[in-house]
Amino acid sequence: MNVVVCVKQIPDPATPYQLEEGTGWLVRPAEQILDDTDRYGVEMGLQVAQAGEGTVTLVSMGPVGNAQGIRQALAMGADRAFLVDDPSLRGADALTTARVLAAVITRVGFDLVITGTESTDGYSGVVPQMIAGLLGVPALTYATKVEIDGGSLRINRQTAAGYDVVTSPLPAVVSVTAGVVEPRYPTFKGIMEAKKKPVETYDISSLGVDIGHDQVLTSITPAPEREAGRRITDEGEAHLAIIALLEQRKVI
Ligand SMILES: Cc1cc2nc3c(=O)[nH]c(=O)nc-3n(C[C@H](O)[C@H](O)[C@H](O)COP(=O)(O)OP(=O)(O)OC[C@H]3O[C@@H](n4cnc5c(N)ncnc54)[C@H](O)[C@@H]3O)c2cc1C
Repeated sequence: MNVVVCVKQIPDPATPYQLEEGTGWLVRPAEQILDDTDRYGVEMGLQVAQAGEGTVTLVSMGPVGNAQGIRQALAMGADRAFLVDDPSLRGADALTTARVLAAVITRVGFDLVITGTESTDGYSGVVPQMIAGLLGVPALTYATKVEIDGGSLRINRQTAAGYDVVTSPLPAVVSVTAGVVEPRYPTFKGIMEAKKKPVETYDISSLGVDIGHDQVLTSITPAPEREAGRRITDEGEAHLAIIALLEQRKVI
């Protein structure tokens, strides 16, 4: 079983994000961490691979920096990593990202591609489905449980009311929700071994991808300050004021 896990390095959400003057693009420091969302994908990939004597290949696009996030995923147990770091990808949109990732995945080969449902910094939530479309395989999304049975994939797909059971043949792309599994912590042995695992970096010319940059960032406006709430003192008729407010907001 050749499992590919898409992992993204992001600036540490514990420190305030900064936007670049002029372009409005996110400043990506050399020091980035593995997106917490993708730790679940890595763990799921490891469990699937270990059950079927498979391998886990990481694929990532973005400024590599000191590759701390990638090393973290390798230390968890992934076997190797393919990274795409190219200055021409600055300002890349979700479709460009999916095109690049799909090109690498095609190159490395796959039975199953695992992603998070949405990243912590971009959270567009569309890259997994786009990758599946570009690879020409089914996209199974919002998985809270993943099972492989021979050549087929079965997931519990989270819904507002509970879950749907969805099945498909392999190869396929599956996006997993946070909490699908409990991600393991890298052991000391894992951290040492990660230093020797193969990490290959591509640039765009070696991949032959047409990067369209279809999305243009026209302006950025700070989110409006949250307005102070209104305090209603109950002198016997507070409920009427609350009902009027809810009606005004079209809640009831
Ligand atoms: C304004 C802007 C500027 C950008 N600048 C750059 C840049 O300078 N350099 C650059 O390389 N990219 C850049 N990008 C691309 C960006 O970082 C995202 O990778 C891309 O837009 C995907 O969007 P998302 O994170 O919302 O994906 P989502 O659909 O929310 O992600 C879902 C899952 O898809 C997978 N995934 C998503 N993105 C990646 C990725 N990059 N690598 C591996 N797996 C991934 C992960 O498993 C993730 O959990 C930029 C995007 C925008 C909008």
